[in-house]
Amino acid sequence: ATRMRPDAIIRPDFKFEDMGVGGLDNEFSQIFRRAFASRIFPPGLIDKLGINHVKGLLLYGPPGTGKTLIARKIGKLLNGSAEPKIVNGPEILSKYVGSSEENIRNLFKDAEAEYKQKQENSSLHIIIFDELDSVFKQRGSRGDGTGVGDNVVNQLLAKMDGVEQLNNILIIGMTNRIDLIDNALLRPGRFEVQVEIKLPDEKGRRQIFDIHAKKMKDNELLGNDIDFDKLAALTKNFSGAEIEGLVKSAASFAINKSIKVGTVANVDIKKVSAMKVSMNDFLMAL
Ligand code: ATP
Repeated sequence: ATRMRPDAIIRPDFKFEDMGVGGLDNEFSQIFRRAFASRIFPPGLIDKLGINHVKGLLLYGPPGTGKTLIARKIGKLLNGSAEPKIVNGPEILSKYVGSSEENIRNLFKDAEAEYKQKQENSSLHIIIFDELDSVFKQRGSRGDGTGVGDNVVNQLLAKMDGVEQLNNILIIGMTNRIDLIDNALLRPGRFEVQVEIKLPDEKGRRQIFDIHAKKMKDNELLGNDIDFDKLAALTKNFSGAEIEGLVKSAASFAINKSIKVGTVANVDIKKVSAMKVSMNDFLMAL
């Protein structure tokens, strides 16, 4: 008998623009097509095709480019998915030494229990594994001599390999160093879909400025002289996180203009209420 699979559905109100992720449209559509489009197929089609859902997605690239941001949004976009569980590689190795394997087992416990109980409409369980490279370095190169890492690796692989029918799980791994990751981990059934998240290009940077300055803009706190096109051009090699930092820093410069050095008593209320974040504040921040 064909069993109904716990396929997810996309929230009907979902719009990529509302995700607050800038400059990653192509990457996101790649992730969507390769990593979880199969989950919105009609139940049974996957069986007929003789394929499995992707259980592991690896996002790699420089720090601060939105990997975590995207991983969290994937959960939001799929209807009926549980709140993602977030694991940090170094943490699982150090803080819980001795019980690392148990921690890995616990990660899967809810998904397993739910799947067994009500196979027909189990929710999708997303596990976000940050700094994957710290745990999954090429065998023999870890060199901490404790063997703790190997146990964690084996435990996670056992869970990924052993969960053939447990298809209510999507593990999103993240790393800045894909070159350090053990090849065994990139095989089908494991982190088989790998998507690079690069530093944003000029157009992407422009979008990221818009996202992070939206609140100021909506509250009419942006000066008329702001030229985000120019700022996008001036911020080559900035990550999304750095652009966010720049926007916050510009706001600090603007606030400081309305404060005379000294005490709170010297805050010029008139100036504060008329405050705008100007192009000059952005350039100072830069
Ligand atoms: P790391 O490799 O250091 O973990 P990461 O790629 O996971 O970095 P995030 O944690 O997603 O980076 O980014 C940090 C913050 O920077 C985000 O919460 C967001 O506010 C901002 N940011 C980064 N990239 C983008 C982006 N493409 N669009 C909008 N905001 C971004």
